[in-house]
This record gives sequence, C-alpha cells and structure tokens, in this order.
Amino acid sequence: MHLVCAVVLLGALAGAAGAAPELPMDLPDWRTTPLVDHDLGHGLHMLESFGGNIGVLPGEQGVLLVDAEWPELNERVRALLARISPKPVRYVIDTHWHWDHVGGNGAFARGGALIISSRETRDYILEAQRANRDNTGQYTRDPAAVPALAVDSGTQRLYLAGQTVEIIHAPAAHTGGDLIVRFLEADVLQTGDTFFHGFYPDIDFEHGGSIDGMIAFYDTLYRLCGPNTRVIPGHGPMANREDIRIYQAMLREVRKRVAAAIERGMSEQQLIAAHPLDDLDKVWGGNLVKQPYLLAIVYEDLKAHGATAH
Ligand SMILES: [Zn+2]
Repeated sequence: MHLVCAVVLLGALAGAAGAAPELPMDLPDWRTTPLVDHDLGHGLHMLESFGGNIGVLPGEQGVLLVDAEWPELNERVRALLARISPKPVRYVIDTHWHWDHVGGNGAFARGGALIISSRETRDYILEAQRANRDNTGQYTRDPAAVPALAVDSGTQRLYLAGQTVEIIHAPAAHTGGDLIVRFLEADVLQTGDTFFHGFYPDIDFEHGGSIDGMIAFYDTLYRLCGPNTRVIPGHGPMANREDIRIYQAMLREVRKRVAAAIERGMSEQQLIAAHPLDDLDKVWGGNLVKQPYLLAIVYEDLKAHGATAH
C-alpha cells in the first residue's frame, strides 16, 4: 500500500488533473492496534497487524523476515519476535518500497540485519529519501534503511532453517519492483501487495504498477501454488490458491467496467459519480481501499497504458 492522510485523497479526487490519488488512511493507536502471531508450522510465522503482513523464519544463526512494518510498531514486533526466537534478525526481504512494508528497515539494519530488495525497490526508497526536502515523516534520509543487497531479476535461493527460500522478482504488478517469497518445504507463498486478501487492490502506477500487470501476474501466482499452499497476502488473513483465482476474476471485472467507461468517453469524475462497483463493494469494499480510490487509480492507469490492450 502507499499511504497518506485522508485530506490528501479528497484533494486528489476533487480533480487536481494529473495528480495521482492517494490512499486515505486513518492511523491507529500504535500501542493498542492488534499484532497477532500466526504459527504456520515448519518454524514459520506470520505476523498480522495494521501494515503489511510479516513472514518470519527463525534459523540457528538468526531470523529472516519478509517485510518490516511501520516503524511505530518496531518495538512491539521485536518483542513478539523475541518470543519466537532468541536470535537477532539477520535478513529482511522487502517485498516492495511502500512504507508499511519497509518502515522498520532502519531499525532492523542497525540491529545487524541485511536488507534485501529488488533493484527497483532500492531505487524507489533512495528517490523517496532524496525527495524528502525537510527530512521529516516517512523516508527520512537514513542509509541504514536503504537495502544493501538488490535482486535484479529471476529467482534467488536462500537456505535457512531447513527451508529453501525462493526470492522471486515479479514482473511489474503492484509496483515496478515486487518480490514474492516462497518457502518451499513449508509450502507457503508470501505475495507482498501483489495480492490483498478480501478487499480491493492498491496499484502504484506511478512506480511501474498496472492493473494489467496485476491480472497477468495472477496466473503465475496461481501456478506457484499447490492445493495445500498457504498464501501470506500483503494485507488480510491467510489465503489459498482459489482465493487468488477469485481475486483475479474481480480485477478483470473492475478493469472491464473502467475500460468500458473510458471507451464511452466518461471523465474520471463522471465514472466515480456513477458508482459502477456497488455490487462488488459488498464483497470487496469493506476495508482500506474504497470504490472511489480504486476507480481513480484504474482509470488513470488505463488512460496512461491503454484501455483497449485486452
Ligand atoms: Zn504496497
């Protein structure tokens, strides 16, 4: 996800031409927001909280994390990790550059962890730090928070705690530099934000993401799963491969309706005012991503990349 406050969203939807909409977000009370440990067996855990889900694999020499959550949750995440393993965090894999997945990078790196990402994610984090003129808030200039090891393409393998950990560079989907991670022996797939379970997607089309990339990538995600594979989504509860198929069908439907509106010559504001997703809202609209935001990003994405490509 990429996150800012609701005020910015209203400004963007009010029609600042060319300005990408921002996802509205009411921040929680960090001391009390739920932080839940799901034991997946094979030593693996999934930590579920306000930001992106964290995958945890404790090894003899240290702990591997996939994603690093908001920095405001870092202390609580560390306390929970200490109950899983007495070892320090040795590796952190960033699935992508969004703050709710990488905000904890700096703290983990200062504790001795090697931060791993795609080359694009590393570039996006560096860019965001450089663009932070007053050096406050998210992406303050912090060399420790910048990934030290970057994956260009293909699949890398890391062997830890009896698991073959596949780090797979996805084609552009949620962003232009998504990594997904597969724990082969445990039969667990962690998707980052290429997949949300139970609610509408976010697509960072300003950083290489696109709805067509997402839809196409779901065939790969599905193929990487067996009938018993447990899927750790970027956000939401544990899922399985059928959930991936169902989600792909929803994305196709959203794309079809927005593309049809573009072909009819509707403006973004007219599309949002027409509420074309009210039926889908009943299933998918009940969480962080709401219909107006989704319509805005898909409309702008298809305008930029071509609505008739499919
Ligand atoms: Zn994201």
